[in-house]
Amino acid sequence: MSTQTAPKLSPEKTRPAKAYGMTSPTSKVGALDISRRKPTATDIVIEILYCGVCHSDLHYARNEWADAMPATYPAVPGHEIVGRVVEAGSGATKFKVGDLAAVGCMVDSCRTCTNCKRDLEQFCENGCTMTYGSTDPHLNIPTHGGYSEAIVVDQAFALKVPTNLELPAVAPLLCAGITTYSPLRHWKAGPGKKVGIVGLGGLGHMGVKFSHAMGAHTVVFTTSPEKKADALRLGADEVVMSKNPDEMAKHANSFDFILNAVAAKHDINAYFAMLKLDGTLAMVGAPSEPLPVAVFNLIMPRRQFAGSAIGGIAETQEMLDFCSKHNITSDIELIKIQYINEAWDRMEKGDVKYRFVIDMASIKS
Ligand code: NAP
Ligand code: ZN
Ligand code: ZN
Repeated sequence: MSTQTAPKLSPEKTRPAKAYGMTSPTSKVGALDISRRKPTATDIVIEILYCGVCHSDLHYARNEWADAMPATYPAVPGHEIVGRVVEAGSGATKFKVGDLAAVGCMVDSCRTCTNCKRDLEQFCENGCTMTYGSTDPHLNIPTHGGYSEAIVVDQAFALKVPTNLELPAVAPLLCAGITTYSPLRHWKAGPGKKVGIVGLGGLGHMGVKFSHAMGAHTVVFTTSPEKKADALRLGADEVVMSKNPDEMAKHANSFDFILNAVAAKHDINAYFAMLKLDGTLAMVGAPSEPLPVAVFNLIMPRRQFAGSAIGGIAETQEMLDFCSKHNITSDIELIKIQYINEAWDRMEKGDVKYRFVIDMASIKS
């Protein structure tokens, strides 16, 4: 476990912000005071109105990803942020005070490497700056996420928010939305394609909406029989109970693409068997434990096993514009920040339909 004490900062460079976070991997999520940088010329200050609750928040802050992304404490999660611009630097011309703005999982990158130049900042060769769990390059202190009253971000990493959508339900698009939209685009979900979505949680329910809107024949794999009606309402053409071998067998060798959004250890080999020749199973779910692969499931017939991470800034804006056009938002349960520990416990049990979103006004109470 990594623990880090924030260096002392000169008050001229920082501003205080109220936040909620964890002080150790086993603490409760509670109120904290954190420091944000004072805005530079290209920064905007966003008063956070709503922040979605992603399973990654829990994996990270409880240090379940100790090997891949060790947590530093205090850990302030939250990377599905929408709010209002309350200050804009002199060079931050993309936004003006009063505009809506959104922030997802990244707040900066090197902007010069090959991948950044291809609008794939999430794969920055020098490591992108994540909204939480990275180091703020301006102050050399840990970045803190959106369970907070405000965030300071370079305008290049802030998104324009469509005005025709219900704002709290837009927040989850910033992670759950782009993380499913990007691989569905990359692997060309569309008419004539059979697409599977595994796990009907925050990511999965967005994957169903996007796959359906893109015109693919969409099949949901779920462990939860009570979610069947919802899956059909969200846009699934078929729903398969993944624990029922007979239902699974009917779909063998038939999928072009399967997107796996499961947050826990499970048998992925059952899904390889669903792919046809040259079909792909892509992981976006990030269980903390390794998933054993029976390689013969890949060798015959030439199947591919892949992964995908969020999406670049340009593609995130494209996704928001797609949502505006197709009237797509997340199905949410709006909560107060004081409910966050119960919300995490419920999310772990799969008891959320389908994303908690924090009404950040509650941080003031
Ligand atoms: P979530 O809302 O908790 O949904 C996860 C779903 O997985 C559950 O609703 C459940 O669906 C299924 N599931 C849970 N435990 C299972 C088990 N033991 N066996 C089989 N299925 C199980 O989580 P989320 O916020 O959507 O995040 C999903 C995963 O994606 C997390 O690991 C998260 O860290 C990761 N993530 C990755 C990226 C990326 O860029 N790659 C971005 C964001 C999140 P059913 O009830 O339908 O079975
Ligand atoms: Zn997330
Ligand atoms: Zn880069």
